[in-house]
Amino acid sequence: MKGSGSTGALRIGEAADQVCLFPREVQGGIEQRLYRAARRLQKAPLTWLAASRLTEVVRSGDAVVLLTGAGAPPELPAGETDGPLGIAVLGRALQLGLGARPVVISEERNLGPIRAALEVTRAACSLLPIPCGREDPGYRLLEELRPTALISVEKLGPNPKGVIHDTRGRDVSASHASVRGLFDSARDRGVLTVAVGDRGNEVGFGLLGGPHVRPRLRPGRCRCPCRGSIACDIRADVLVVSSISNWGAYGVVTCLQTLTDRRLLHTPEDEAAMLEAAVNAGARDGVTHTATFTVDGADLTVQQAVVTLLGNIQ
Ligand SMILES: [Zn+2]
Repeated sequence: MKGSGSTGALRIGEAADQVCLFPREVQGGIEQRLYRAARRLQKAPLTWLAASRLTEVVRSGDAVVLLTGAGAPPELPAGETDGPLGIAVLGRALQLGLGARPVVISEERNLGPIRAALEVTRAACSLLPIPCGREDPGYRLLEELRPTALISVEKLGPNPKGVIHDTRGRDVSASHASVRGLFDSARDRGVLTVAVGDRGNEVGFGLLGGPHVRPRLRPGRCRCPCRGSIACDIRADVLVVSSISNWGAYGVVTCLQTLTDRRLLHTPEDEAAMLEAAVNAGARDGVTHTATFTVDGADLTVQQAVVTLLGNIQ
């Protein structure tokens, strides 16, 4: 693999960030604005930052917890197609590249599609359900698993008032797991936290909640009685913003390849097989709510094009 060494990896991270930020709207959407804020704050290509911190921290045999979960019945009875694929590709890369033991956590209804995507990658990950609502097993889980890194990809999280919102501004707290305890526990234990998101209502965007971010960057207001912002206030050590969260995870894997000098990214054919497997296991498009081979309203060919472009960065 070309471009080894930290300068090469930085350059690859810059390219990977750009591919992952492929604009879904001509004008550029909220993702572009959130990216610019996250980039200003973190001062390096985001995918590279995540990959290099993971490479520094995760040792062979270490447990790494991967977290996803967005969407609930009736529209999304087994979650959405954004998240499970990113988790599967990242889990496999951490296992092959760093020798980690990935443990994937999500609401129970999402485990079928996640397992289906993982089977395509042949990654040996354990899966654990996490309960919905107020019960927060985060501290106990990290005590049991003792991971060196906690990574979320498209995991909805609460705003400062403790309300979890979907992108339409609805209160979905009762149907999603409370994950604040996981991240509080990770911070207390010095566990590296990495978060990948696209709209601002996912875990990790608390990093942008400080004085560095102008108010207009805050994602829209909710439609529930809390009258807050939909922006999640849980912070992560590294926040990766991409147009679709799966792509951000693939971008991190692209940088991990360079840092470990191993082929870790999946193929466009794997992307098709994962998406088909996840949809057949019940996952639906998170934007259109249809059981189609699409992610956030974008066709499979677009997903494959992003994988192709990332695979050609050198
Ligand atoms: Zn609200």
